Amino acid sequence: MAQNDLLDPDDWDAFRRLSHQALDAAFDDLMCLRKNPVWRETPPEVLARLDDAAPAEGLGLEQVLAEFARDIKPYGVGNRHPAFFGWAHGAGTPVGMVAELLAGGLNLNCGGRNHVGVALEQKIAAVMAEKFGFPAAASGLFVTGASQANFHGVLIARRAALGAGVRDNGLNGAPLRAYASTQAHGCVAQAMDLAGLGTRALRKIPCDAEGRMRLDSLREAIAADRARSEQPFLVVGTAGTVNFGAFDPLEELADIAARENLWLHVDGAFGALTIFSEKLKGLTAGVSRANSLAFDFHKWAHVPYDAGFVLVRDRQAQRDAFAAPAAYLSRTKTGLAKGEDWPCDLGPDLSRGFRALKVWMTLRAYGLRRLGESMERNCADARRLAQVIDGSEEFERVAPVPLNIVCFRLKHAPDEANHALVEHLHGAGVAAPSLTRVDGRTALRCALFNHRTETADVEAFFAEARAWARGRSQVRNC
Ligand SMILES: *Cc1c(COP(=O)(O)O)cnc(C)c1O
Repeated sequence: MAQNDLLDPDDWDAFRRLSHQALDAAFDDLMCLRKNPVWRETPPEVLARLDDAAPAEGLGLEQVLAEFARDIKPYGVGNRHPAFFGWAHGAGTPVGMVAELLAGGLNLNCGGRNHVGVALEQKIAAVMAEKFGFPAAASGLFVTGASQANFHGVLIARRAALGAGVRDNGLNGAPLRAYASTQAHGCVAQAMDLAGLGTRALRKIPCDAEGRMRLDSLREAIAADRARSEQPFLVVGTAGTVNFGAFDPLEELADIAARENLWLHVDGAFGALTIFSEKLKGLTAGVSRANSLAFDFHKWAHVPYDAGFVLVRDRQAQRDAFAAPAAYLSRTKTGLAKGEDWPCDLGPDLSRGFRALKVWMTLRAYGLRRLGESMERNCADARRLAQVIDGSEEFERVAPVPLNIVCFRLKHAPDEANHALVEHLHGAGVAAPSLTRVDGRTALRCALFNHRTETADVEAFFAEARAWARGRSQVRNC
C-alpha cells in the first residue's frame, strides 16, 4: 500500500508547519477579539461556498485551512468577545482550546473500557461530588449540556418512582406529577415531554418578586395533586434562573421533598458553579441535599463547548435508569474490558468524546479561585449596570439583579422599540445583549458571563444604547 493511501500525511514536516501556522492564527484571533465586531452575519456568498462539503477528491490541509480562515472563523456566535452579553454563554479560554487539540489527538472513546479517559471522568465526578457536599459514592456523567442533564434527572427520578417495570412496560398510565417554578428553564418541560410524562404533568409554581419558587404554592399544588390521587414524584429547583439568576429556596425545597418523598433535582446550569467563588457560594446552600444536579462547565467555567454534567447522589439509581446488558459490551476481570460502571451504563450514549480533559486542564491550569473571581467581577459589573439603568432617563430595570443578569427596557416605548435596539446593537457589532419577556413585555437581557468583559465594555455598551435611544447613534451596520 502506498503511503498516501493512509489518512496520515505523506510529508509530516509540511503538515506540522501548516498546523503550527493555524495554531498561531488561532492565538492571534483570540488576542485581537476587541478589534472585531462582536458578531457579523455569514454572507450569502460564504454560505454558497460551504455547499460543497463532501467533494469526491480531497483538497488537502493547506487549502482547507485557507477556507477556514476566510469562510468560518469570522462568522461565529461572538461569545468570546468581551461585549457579548446574550443568553448564557461561556467565553472559552486558551487553555481549553489547547485541551481540545490534545483531546482530538488522543481520540478516546469515553463510552467505557479500562483507560485514563474514563478514570478522569470519574475523578471529576468525585471532586464535584465533594464540592457540592454529595456522598463520596455519588456518580456523575458528562453530557452535552444542562438540557440533557435535566432530562437525565427526570429519567432517573421516573425510574426511582416507578421501579424497573417502567423500563419494560413504559408508564402504563402512572399519573406522575413534577413541580418547577414558572422561571424554570424550558428544557425542564421538554424533559417531561421526552420522558413520556407530558409537559402538563409539570406543575408550574408561581414565583415571588425575587423570581424564587413560592413554597406555599408548591405545597398547595402537591396537596391538590394528591387529593386527585395523582402521584407527585419530582421537584425541580433552579440554582440560577435563566432570566434573572435567581436561586430557589433550595433548603426548603429539600425539606418539602423529604417530607413528601419526592426526588429533588436541581438545575444549576450556570448558578451551581458559583460554588467556586468564596463570595458567591453561599447561594448554593441546599444543593448538597439534592438527589441529582445538572450543571454546565461550558457556561461560567468557560470550558469549550460542550461540557454539561449530571451528578447523582445514589450511583445505583443512575445505573438503574440506563444500564442494559449487551453481549458485545461484556466485561473482563482484568485488561481493557475491565470495569463495573462504564459511562455507557450511566446514560444513553455509547460513543462519547473526552470532555473530561478540557475540564481537568481548565480547573488545574486556572484553579478555582481565579474562576470564582471572574464570576465575582461579572456580578459587580451587573450591579453597576443596574445602577446606571436605575439612574437613567431612557431605561427602566424590570427585574432584580441577584447575580450577573440585568433585564431592562426602554421607558414609555413599545416592545418593537426594544427589538429594534437589540437588532441595531447586533447589526453594528457593538454589543450582543439578548431579549426576553418579563411580565408579558419584551425586555433586553444582559447576562455577564465573560471573563474578558471589563467595566468599560459594559459602559461602552450602555453609552451606545443610550445614544440610540436619544436618536444620536453614530454607529452603522458593519
Ligand atoms: C443554559 C441553561 C440550561 C440549558 O443548558 P444547555 O447547556 O444550554 O443545554 C438549563 N437551565 C438553565 C438555568 C440554563 O441557564
